[in-house]
Amino acid sequence: MEMQLDKKEKYLFIETFGCQMNDNDSEKIIGLMSSLNCKTTDSPDKADIVILNTCSIRGKAEQKVYSALGRFKKLKKQRPDLIIGVGGCVAQQEGNRLLKRAPHLDVVFGTHNIHRLPDLIKEVESTRSRVAATDFFSFIEDEELFEYTYAKNGLENPIYMVKVSITIMRGCNNFCSYCIVPYVRGREMSRKSSDILQEAKKLIKAEVKEITLLGQNVNSYGNNGADISFPELLRLVCRLDGIERVRFITSHPKDMSEELIQLFGEEERLCRHIHLPLQSGSDTILKIMNRGYTREDYLNKILKLKMLYPGMAITTDIIVGFPGETESDFLDTMNLIKEIEFDNIFSFKYSPRQETMAASFDSQISDTVKEERLAILQETQMDITHSKNQEMLGKTVDVLIEGKSKTADGGAAILNNAKRNNAVNAITQLTGRTSCNKVVNLSASEEFMGRIAPVRIIKASPNSLTGSIWK
Ligand code: SF4
Repeated sequence: MEMQLDKKEKYLFIETFGCQMNDNDSEKIIGLMSSLNCKTTDSPDKADIVILNTCSIRGKAEQKVYSALGRFKKLKKQRPDLIIGVGGCVAQQEGNRLLKRAPHLDVVFGTHNIHRLPDLIKEVESTRSRVAATDFFSFIEDEELFEYTYAKNGLENPIYMVKVSITIMRGCNNFCSYCIVPYVRGREMSRKSSDILQEAKKLIKAEVKEITLLGQNVNSYGNNGADISFPELLRLVCRLDGIERVRFITSHPKDMSEELIQLFGEEERLCRHIHLPLQSGSDTILKIMNRGYTREDYLNKILKLKMLYPGMAITTDIIVGFPGETESDFLDTMNLIKEIEFDNIFSFKYSPRQETMAASFDSQISDTVKEERLAILQETQMDITHSKNQEMLGKTVDVLIEGKSKTADGGAAILNNAKRNNAVNAITQLTGRTSCNKVVNLSASEEFMGRIAPVRIIKASPNSLTGSIWK
């Protein structure tokens, strides 16, 4: 990949929408843009380049992108040299249409074109043309991208902190009838295990304590171009010298193997939490969603995890108001939620997405019914989550302290900043997570940032826990 360094320092403002895959892609964008001598800024007014890294999983997420683009229109008018780019899923889906819809937009780069961004920006700078790049590529470019990002950053960039995600595969072959991912992220592709391990070692050397292996369906890792299976990869990462915690996301219930379930009992560094999207508790709805499992299949896997690993946290995703969802289907979901008692649920109203099968289904549910069902579900789950959090009261748990909490001075300051400032003795509001991925806030000396510490839980609210260092 040939890129020329630009001598003049520039500023990049990046806004990220959507999931962890997008957060991870934004980190790569920041790393890559350093090749153009570009530093990040929190202020769009100071930026030479504005990038929106977008999500199209739900209509609301897509609308947010258009309103964000609208906000930057005035800025572009004031400063015509400002370069505005849109990447991610909306960019992939809309391509040239985005350029037509937003005349102040300069660059559109799809989900497989992140590695091309510096060249696209240079093209805009030198020709003042407007460009859209939405081809699908193989993972080869991505490998270069990772190498390039780390080499240029030297891992000095403050985005690399206590915990980092590593993309191990991307795309999806499942075609759930409501989901746009296979269309905007392409088919499944797995990275080579040797590259992933090399990346993990570099991060551990840079004092990263927790690694999350990331993919649209991590259980499919190895089915498409990798040399080993997902459980084998996970075991290798857990056994790397110096790593403290390993997580993974997202698992598909139909692909979660016995070998993976057993791994939680074998690998101490593997966090005791699994996110396993259920989507619906009704067999009828699961079938038309094309999920590939039944309510019973799902429940059996959960019961096994609960039996083998008491106290393990289980979280899920639920969609309410899928086309054709009757009151009885919704009750099936509610009953299953009450039976399983998830630690937390990410719940959404069904949102029809262009190109997907479900968007053309008859019997779409009214927004009023969706709202009602969502409210019932969320209220029930809040009680379950709260009572689960209350069970933690008085217990001492290991917490990986990630940094200052958002309420502490300076917002979500992070370990590297604290180190640079040598401000490690002041007592402040810190935040971290248990192995079960529960958020714990505490007042403690900044020297605890980046460490796993025993914390006694003294308060439990529905969304988080409060604790104090237990010596
Ligand atoms: S498994 Fe289904 S919901 Fe998940 S990314 Fe693939 S198509 Fe979308």
